[in-house]
Amino acid sequence: MNEGAPNEAAIFEHFHDVKIDRDNIAHYRGLMEGRFLLNRCDDCGTWIYPHRPLCPECLSWTITPTEISGSGRLHMFTLLYQSRDPDKPLTEPMQAAAIELDEQPGLRYLSRVVNCPLSKLRHDMPVMLTWIEENRRRWPAFEPATDIIDMTGEG
Ligand SMILES: [Zn+2]
Repeated sequence: MNEGAPNEAAIFEHFHDVKIDRDNIAHYRGLMEGRFLLNRCDDCGTWIYPHRPLCPECLSWTITPTEISGSGRLHMFTLLYQSRDPDKPLTEPMQAAAIELDEQPGLRYLSRVVNCPLSKLRHDMPVMLTWIEENRRRWPAFEPATDIIDMTGEG
């Protein structure tokens, strides 16, 4: 933990509706600092997500929260048209996207793609990390890494 990093009490308060535990607290501390950290095995280099204390490849317990590059591809996405709150109807479909990070095949983070019309979302499109503000909190999201007009060939 670097100097000036949020302490545990601050993390619990900031993410009061998230189940914080010893395996994911570094990730959420990173989010507060605008850093995207995922656990990585010190012994074999495997990236570990969802957050776990044990490397699934070599069973090492020596794990270090490590910053990702932020580039990846849209592995899959779905658009949800049903509102979760009848008092707040959706104005547009809610998006859930799995981003496969360049660090490792199969390393997928559930997020969403922003700064891109929903109609331009394409499987395997290159994306890069950006940040969005929601409910006074900063969250990682992804945006197209290339010109979306060129990529789809639709002009
Ligand atoms: Zn390992």
